[in-house]
Amino acid sequence: MSDRPQNFDTLQIHAGASPDPATGARQVPIYQSTAYVFQDADHAARLFNLQEVGYIYSRLTNPTVAALAERITHLEGGAGGICCSSGHAAQIMALFPLMMPGCNIVASTRLYGGTYTQLTQTIKRFGWSAKLVDFDDLDAVKAAIDDDTRAIFCESIANPGGYITDLDAIAKIGDEAGIPLIVDNTSASPYLCRPIEHGATLVVHSTTKYLTGNGTVTGGAVIDSGKFDWSANDKFPSLSQPEPAYHGLTFHEVLGPMAFTFHSIAVGLRDLGMTMNPQGAHYTLMGIETLSLRMRKHVENAVKVAKWLEADDRIESVTYAGLESSPYYDRVAKICPNGAGALFTFAVKGGYENCVKLIDSVELFSHVANLGDARSLIIHSASTTHRQLSDEQRAASGALPNVVRVSIGIEDPDDIIADLDQALTKALA
Ligand SMILES: *Cc1c(COP(=O)(O)O)cnc(C)c1O
Repeated sequence: MSDRPQNFDTLQIHAGASPDPATGARQVPIYQSTAYVFQDADHAARLFNLQEVGYIYSRLTNPTVAALAERITHLEGGAGGICCSSGHAAQIMALFPLMMPGCNIVASTRLYGGTYTQLTQTIKRFGWSAKLVDFDDLDAVKAAIDDDTRAIFCESIANPGGYITDLDAIAKIGDEAGIPLIVDNTSASPYLCRPIEHGATLVVHSTTKYLTGNGTVTGGAVIDSGKFDWSANDKFPSLSQPEPAYHGLTFHEVLGPMAFTFHSIAVGLRDLGMTMNPQGAHYTLMGIETLSLRMRKHVENAVKVAKWLEADDRIESVTYAGLESSPYYDRVAKICPNGAGALFTFAVKGGYENCVKLIDSVELFSHVANLGDARSLIIHSASTTHRQLSDEQRAASGALPNVVRVSIGIEDPDDIIADLDQALTKALA
C-alpha cells in the first residue's frame, strides 16, 4: 500500500478492518469472546506490562471493538481511541485521567440535557465540579479557568439550539492555560466537523447517534489527538507521573502520543468497566460505512425543511445554523464546512400548548428522546430532556417552552414537510 492518505469515503469503509487473519473473513467478525489464550507465561507477562499489545480480556479490549475504535480514530484524525458503553460513559472516560477530587471543568452552557446534569450534578460525587459559561464570551471562558481547572468541554454543534462553537478560539484559550479542550462531536459526526483540526485534544462521541445511524445500539468513543503535552505542567499526574494504579508506569514518558489511550484501557476500562460490547461495535461499524452518504442527505433535508419552516407564518423562528438568518451561519463554513447538521429547533406560535399538540399530531416523525436516526424525530425539550433544568438554564441551552427540536432524517424531504404541515394545521386549529 502507498503512503498516500485515503479520503473520508474510503476510510469509513476500510479503516480498522483488514481481512480477518484467521479466516479471511472480509467483514469484521463479531469476536464474541471474553478472554484470549496466552501463548505462554512470558507472553502473558508482556501483555500485562504493556510491553506488547494484544488481547487479554474483553473488559479492556476486544478485536471487534478495537476495529471500531481504530475506524473512528482515523475519521477524526486522532492518534488513538477507545470505545465505551455509551456517550455518557465516554464523557466520564475522557475526564477520568485528567481529574482529581477538587478539580473542575469549564464547560459551555449549551449542552445536551443529559450532559448538563452529568456535569452540574453527578460528577460532584467524585469531588469534581463544572463551571458553565457562555462560550461566545471568550473573556468569560478565560476568566473561569483557575488553578484547579483540568479540562474545557463543549459540543461542536450544540444540541438542541443549532449553535456552532468557535472551536479554534476556545482551543487557543486552552493552549494558553495548558488545559485540554474536549469536544463532544456527536451532533456533527466527523464527516461534518473534525475538532482535532481546530485544536481539540480529545473528541467524545455518542456513537448511539449518527455514527450508528439507525437507533439500534448505545455506545460511545473517546479519541485522542495525541498532541497534548501532558508533562508540560504538573496538572496531569496520572499521565505525567508514575501511576500508582498501574504499578508505577509513567504513561506519557513510555507511550508518548498514545499515553491517554493506553491509560484509558489499562486503568480506565480496567477499573471503571464502561466497556462496549462486540455485538454493539458490529452494528456501529456497519453504520459508519455509509456515514458520509447519510450525513449529506441529513444536511440536504435539514436545509430544505428549515427553509420551509422559516417561510411558514405559523412558525415564530427557526434556529438552524444552516440558514442565512442564523447568527452562526458564517461559523459553519469555518467549523463544519460540510454542513450544519440536521438537528435544530423551531418556535411555534401559541407556545407550550401548541408545541404539545404538534408533537401529538405528527405521523411520520417519531416522538422520541433520541437524535441522529435515519428516521425523522421530534421532541419538546422543555417537557422532556430539559425538564430537570430551571427556566433560566433552559433558556441558556436553547430549550424554551415554545420550542420543539427536530432531528431530520433521510426520508424524502417532501414527505417530512408534508407531515409537519398537517401536524401544524392540527396544532394551530
Ligand atoms: C446522546 C448524546 C449524549 C449521550 O450519549 P448516550 O449514548 O445516550 O449516553 C451526549 N452528547 C450528545 C450531544 C448526545 O446527543
